[in-house]
Amino acid sequence: ATREAELVASVPTGLLIDGEWRPSSSGETFEVVDPATGLVLTRVADATPADGLAALDAASRAGAEWAATAPRRRGEILRRAFDLAIERQEDLALLMTIEMGKSLPEARGEVAYGSEFLRWFSEEAVRISGRYGSNPEGTGTTIVSYRPVGPCFLITPWNFPLAMATRKIAPALAAGCTVVLKPAELTPLTSLFFAQLLLDAGVPAGVVNVVPTTDASGVSSAVLADSRTRKVSFTGSTPVGKVLLKQAADNVLRTSMELGGNAPFLVFDDADLDAAVTGAMLAKFRNIGEACTAANRFIVHASVAQAFGAALTAKVKALGVGRGTEEGVSIGPLINRAAVEKNAQLVADAVDRGAEVLTGGSARSGPGTFFDPTVLTGVRPGSRLLSEEIFGPVAAIATFETEDEAVRLANATEFGLVAYAFTTDLARGHRLIASLQTGMLGLNTGVVSNAGAPFGGVKSSGLGREGGLEGIHEYLDTTYTLIPAG
Ligand code: ADP
Repeated sequence: ATREAELVASVPTGLLIDGEWRPSSSGETFEVVDPATGLVLTRVADATPADGLAALDAASRAGAEWAATAPRRRGEILRRAFDLAIERQEDLALLMTIEMGKSLPEARGEVAYGSEFLRWFSEEAVRISGRYGSNPEGTGTTIVSYRPVGPCFLITPWNFPLAMATRKIAPALAAGCTVVLKPAELTPLTSLFFAQLLLDAGVPAGVVNVVPTTDASGVSSAVLADSRTRKVSFTGSTPVGKVLLKQAADNVLRTSMELGGNAPFLVFDDADLDAAVTGAMLAKFRNIGEACTAANRFIVHASVAQAFGAALTAKVKALGVGRGTEEGVSIGPLINRAAVEKNAQLVADAVDRGAEVLTGGSARSGPGTFFDPTVLTGVRPGSRLLSEEIFGPVAAIATFETEDEAVRLANATEFGLVAYAFTTDLARGHRLIASLQTGMLGLNTGVVSNAGAPFGGVKSSGLGREGGLEGIHEYLDTTYTLIPAG
């Protein structure tokens, strides 16, 4: 507890604007709460729209010099940030556990995953290269080159407080852009701590600015309405993403949108069932089910549904529930009371329509916002949890008979972020790559996220890709030059 208190006390709690920590212009602060205990951890400065614009001022002023900084130097600063994040991994992990709820081992996993974007894009900073060639007529030389888009506004969610920040900041900085980050109001501490690491790594004043706020829409509207902002990158819910896309239209901003998911998890009759159950535990119960990549619908061949459900249930019953700092815990609290109520309602709706509870199914009484890890089988069409993002530790199993039916059910959603499929039939695997409407596919695996891969969705799950070779291009504009042959 002393270590926790000391760590929290070491986190800067101001706004980071132009390289300095300062209070909100209103003087207001807001509470950060530990969801496992309901206790207030600390208070942080609550940015106003004017503070958002001051941050944009700083980002705008720092823009030209950062864009002109040698790519090698930008890469070295990112690499130094990676080293510092690894050096401070225990602090970063503990902060995430106490402000967000995930278990310490999972928080350490997020530090490993999230830091990797710093290393990956430190390596990409020096590989931004275009093309040189002839036009088709042979009468001129064409040159394609890239330049940073300019000041970026980045909005992150609370479920992966570090990785969602690094996944946006690292490619932006590598590309030569400056940023204003608005972290989720439920989990600002990790971002603030990480921002200090960026300063320590040598990120110049104004290149990264951070404005936690309880007025997300006010700050965001002000920053997006200012024509100096050139790009908005958002990770969060689809309804908010749609609002931001509409606002972005006024200044014709570049946009990256990582929105909601409703991942199908297909288990075919030829699947390796042990592998499918292992994959299911990761795809569903990692991060307490609070991930846009979480398996939302288990669609299992009728002939193996009972065996799959029984094996999954045995594993789920063994999951430790408690504060993420405790030994043996893998399911921490949900983020808040509203999340608990939503999970309870989704389970009640499915049960009303005929589903059977194999384990769990209810909230725990306080303190803390815990929901028991749950497995439901025989989930009927029309149940809300088949069409809504659950965002909690609830596995819903439905069945199918044919591959066509499985694909039809998998695609019967407005979302298309990720799908999982377990089959040992190689030809079927290739058919699924073509037939599933998804940005990402885990074929015989329950986790797809990796800094070296393009993360993103289709349909209402979003626009653009983060990570991989693609990630840096979200922060680059293309210039094409034609020179007539002499
Ligand atoms: P969740 O349901 O996961 O909290 P949200 O989409 O509400 O998802 O939140 C994701 C991020 O979007 C958070 O940083 C939140 O503060 C921010 N946000 C919410 N509403 C708005 C808005 N109207 N404009 C800009 N950002 C917003």
